[in-house]
Amino acid sequence: MLMINLINQLPSLLFSDVRNMLGMNERFSLSDRMNSLRITKMELGPIGTNAYLIWEDGGTDAVLIDAPPNSRETVESYLAEKSLELKELWLTHGHWDHMAGAFELLKGDISVIGHRADKMLFEEPGVMSTFAMPGMDFEPVSITKWVEEGDTLNLFGRKVDVFHCPGHCPGNIIFWVKEEKVCFVGDVIFEGSVGRADLPGGDFETLKHSIQTKVYKLPENTEICPGHGGNTTVGRERRNNPFVRPL
Ligand SMILES: [Zn+2]
Ligand SMILES: [Zn+2]
Repeated sequence: MLMINLINQLPSLLFSDVRNMLGMNERFSLSDRMNSLRITKMELGPIGTNAYLIWEDGGTDAVLIDAPPNSRETVESYLAEKSLELKELWLTHGHWDHMAGAFELLKGDISVIGHRADKMLFEEPGVMSTFAMPGMDFEPVSITKWVEEGDTLNLFGRKVDVFHCPGHCPGNIIFWVKEEKVCFVGDVIFEGSVGRADLPGGDFETLKHSIQTKVYKLPENTEICPGHGGNTTVGRERRNNPFVRPL
C-alpha cells in the first residue's frame, strides 16, 4: 500500500521517456511462451497507470486493457504503426485512472467489458473526483458487456478466465490467459504490494480473500501484469508479498 502510494505520487513520465529509458523494451513480447501474441505495456496518465495493448503477429485486431486519462495519442500511434484496429476494451475496474481515457478511444464498434459492481464508477466517474487530481473532469464510459466471475473471454483464440477480485474496489476483475501464463490484475496486487483498500467501496479483508483464493491459486509461473509498476509472478508474490500471505 505504501509502495503504491509512492508510485501514485510520482510525476508521470512521458511514454517516450519510458521507452528511451528501457531501450524500447517497454514493448515486451513474451517470446516463445507467447507464440505470436504481442503485448505492449504503456504507462499512461497523470499517476502512471499501466495499459496493455494486445494483438497477434500478422493480425489486424487489437484489445486494450484499461484506458488511463489522455491515452489516446499513444494508443492510436501504436494502432497506426501496426495497422491495427481497436476492437475491444477490457476495463479491470472503474477507478478514473483506468477508465477516464475510454471516451476518446471509443470510435465505431468497440466492445467494452467491465464488472457491474463498478457500474456507478463507470457511469459517474466524478464521484471519485475528490481522490483524483485537482481540476480533472471525467467522462463516463458505457459498458457494452458486463462480465462475472467464471465468465470466459476470447483473446485471439485463447481462452481467458475472468475472476471477480473485490477489495480494492467492488468491481475489480482479473483476466487470466492460462495458455500464455499471464494474468492482468488491475489494482488487486502489485510487485511487493497490494491495492489500496481505503478508498470508497474498498475493504482489506475482502481484498486479502480475493488475493488468497484467486490470484494465489494460479500457477506459480503466471506473470502478473498489474495496473501500476512492474510485472511480477504469482510465485514471487506468494513467497514475498508482505501484505497478503498465502493461506
Ligand atoms: Zn484502482
Ligand atoms: Zn490504479
